[in-house]
Amino acid sequence: MKYFDKVLIANRGEIAIRVMRACKELGIESVAIYSTVDQNSLHVKYADESFLVGEAPPSKSYLNIERIIDIAKKSGVEAIHPGYGFLAENADFAKRCLEEGIVFIGPFWKTIEAMGSKIGAKHMMRKAGVPVLPGTPDGVTSIDEAKKVAAEIGYPVIVKASAGGGGIGMQIVNDEDGLESALSTGMRIAESAFGDPTVFIEKYLIKPRHIEFQVLADRRGHVVHLYDRECSIQRRHQKLVEEAPCPIMTPHLRERMSASAIAVAKACHYANAGTVEFLYSGGNYYFMEMNTRLQVEHTITELITGIDIVRQQMAIASGEDVAFDQQDISIRGHAIECRINAEDPLHNFAADPGKIVRYRSPGGPGIRVDSGIHMGYSIPTNYDSMISKLCAYGATRQETIERMRRAIYEYVILGVKTTLPLHHAIMHNPHFVEGDTHTHFLQEEHVQRN
Ligand code: ADP
Repeated sequence: MKYFDKVLIANRGEIAIRVMRACKELGIESVAIYSTVDQNSLHVKYADESFLVGEAPPSKSYLNIERIIDIAKKSGVEAIHPGYGFLAENADFAKRCLEEGIVFIGPFWKTIEAMGSKIGAKHMMRKAGVPVLPGTPDGVTSIDEAKKVAAEIGYPVIVKASAGGGGIGMQIVNDEDGLESALSTGMRIAESAFGDPTVFIEKYLIKPRHIEFQVLADRRGHVVHLYDRECSIQRRHQKLVEEAPCPIMTPHLRERMSASAIAVAKACHYANAGTVEFLYSGGNYYFMEMNTRLQVEHTITELITGIDIVRQQMAIASGEDVAFDQQDISIRGHAIECRINAEDPLHNFAADPGKIVRYRSPGGPGIRVDSGIHMGYSIPTNYDSMISKLCAYGATRQETIERMRRAIYEYVILGVKTTLPLHHAIMHNPHFVEGDTHTHFLQEEHVQRN
């Protein structure tokens, strides 16, 4: 089954190539868009056709909805895959595609809109019987209300932007004295980053785990999950290492959490691939948010389930049903992903764009590399610093760690600073090896980074 004849990929870098690989396998023609600094990028070379979308700043290129729609119409594609980031969770873009008769490879725009509000999503999930963290039910409107709620739930609390993403603007507050300034800072950042100043307060968990479930759902409401991922190793609330399955998962916990994940997807009438994120602490779990897109770390779920998630996205978007039931899906082995970012782990993860003067990517048993870079490639300053995803797969978690260590040893990227030395240290950290991680792991472990 081909699903579509021609698809536009509204993205760049490794994820654009990942989607084009699925297109190539299915016999679908792919159309790339590129900004002025990306004309020599691999995703442009990989595509069957490519179009200049605009200048380097994202607002002029990969976020330029009308220009992308124009290119889609001019090139005669039937569908657009948004990848992740940029327009992937932009309800207006999904709506514009629909208006133009172009299939948006993702959920219905109203679902994106509903899940784009963390406050709205928490309301919906509370109603659906899914556990959520206590906090202000709606946006904070007065400091007195904030003080009252924070005192009730107990400090520390976290101030979050309702429209937030990418870990931006979250403020941790340890006592009442810090509340007022955290609220005003949070609102200011929320307004400038997301165009919506609404913030809310919730209980801040000490050293929780971030555990998420991959789901697939079709338009007739059939929902399955593709098991769990552990994503606790983070810097600035953003993931750096992910693994599947979660090392502390038990059959009982998986039964409860997966039932909640499916309830979340059903509550918002989800159709396509999505991720339900939870925080886990002291035997309890809480819904945090639903990401209505393909995620960076979908690769490790593909490795343990054998299911090509991008292919499934295309099938569902073309109107097909999810072709399997929950009992048909099983997991085998273990997979870990290390995000290779062009940044300096020794200097607060400052971005380090520049030219790659030597490049050799690892291979051999159980290794998967999804990257958008090559020898001589100049990393532009305008976009995300992630340049490659290194994934290892093995029969056991221990074997997977050993393979990842070996792949890190093989991986040569010279010319820019990268997170590779940090990943080397993490893979040798005794707590990581035991599976004993939490969201403050990097701050606490002071892992040797060079
Ligand atoms: P974003 O949408 O900006 O990525 P999330 O709500 O997904 O933000 O949270 C990102 C990370 O921030 C989580 O994985 C976790 O490490 C931390 N975090 C968020 N909310 C809480 C909380 N209530 N308690 C503790 N940590 C939290």
